[in-house]
Amino acid sequence: MRVKLVVGAIVLFLAAASWLVTDAARGRVPAPPAVKARPAPRGVVWRVPVPTDQKVVALTFDDGPDPVYTPVVLDLARAKGAKFTFFVVGRQGSLYPDLIKRMAAEGHAVENHTWDHHEMTRLSERQDVSEIELCDSEITRITGSRPSFMRPPRGEWDDDVYRATAALGYRVIMWSIELEHHPRRSPQQMAQRAINLARPGMIILAHDGAVDRHFDRTKTMQALPILVDGLLKKGYRFVTVPELMGMATDTRQTAEAAPPAAR
Ligand SMILES: [Zn+2]
Repeated sequence: MRVKLVVGAIVLFLAAASWLVTDAARGRVPAPPAVKARPAPRGVVWRVPVPTDQKVVALTFDDGPDPVYTPVVLDLARAKGAKFTFFVVGRQGSLYPDLIKRMAAEGHAVENHTWDHHEMTRLSERQDVSEIELCDSEITRITGSRPSFMRPPRGEWDDDVYRATAALGYRVIMWSIELEHHPRRSPQQMAQRAINLARPGMIILAHDGAVDRHFDRTKTMQALPILVDGLLKKGYRFVTVPELMGMATDTRQTAEAAPPAAR
């Protein structure tokens, strides 16, 4: 197991290095996203684009639904003909089921961001399962269909989280670009950075909720129309995460995976 982890880390490092070198050579990427040194288990969609030959990106929103911000995002999506993915917090969903219903009715993907937004690495595997299951039941109750992708709060995960996720038939989805990368950037700068970094298959993280440390999403809401217009102008289409996974041309990155061997 240890040897596999080391080999995995080296492979990930080489892949990341070649990716960064290639992009730097093209001169298109001023600030590449950080790649964590920790190796990702198979099946976790990590911080690289989903390989696809189509000019698509997935814009994803965490921590909602929120009565102020979520309707703004949904109105924007409707105006631009875009489909987004919402990683919702189950407890928030139970407070605002109509917003969850609207997401689903308007063709967006409603996915799992746990019940209570705890840092999962601090929980037991049993608690991890419970966090995912409670959110799953709430989404399924409201929309009538079961989610299949999970994003752990703050992107924090360990082997327990991965085993719990895989055991429930879920796939872990991370992101390639974070819109709210730096709190001091202006909405214009936030959007422009993401537009510059975008390439086919990328998953963009933004927030329509405020359960985490940041409580004001005003700048995100201001950056979103600039981002969406900028990417549409570059010829991108906005697809949901399930749609994007279906467009993957190389399934090694996105393959269904067995849980890693127990320690
Ligand atoms: Zn979150």
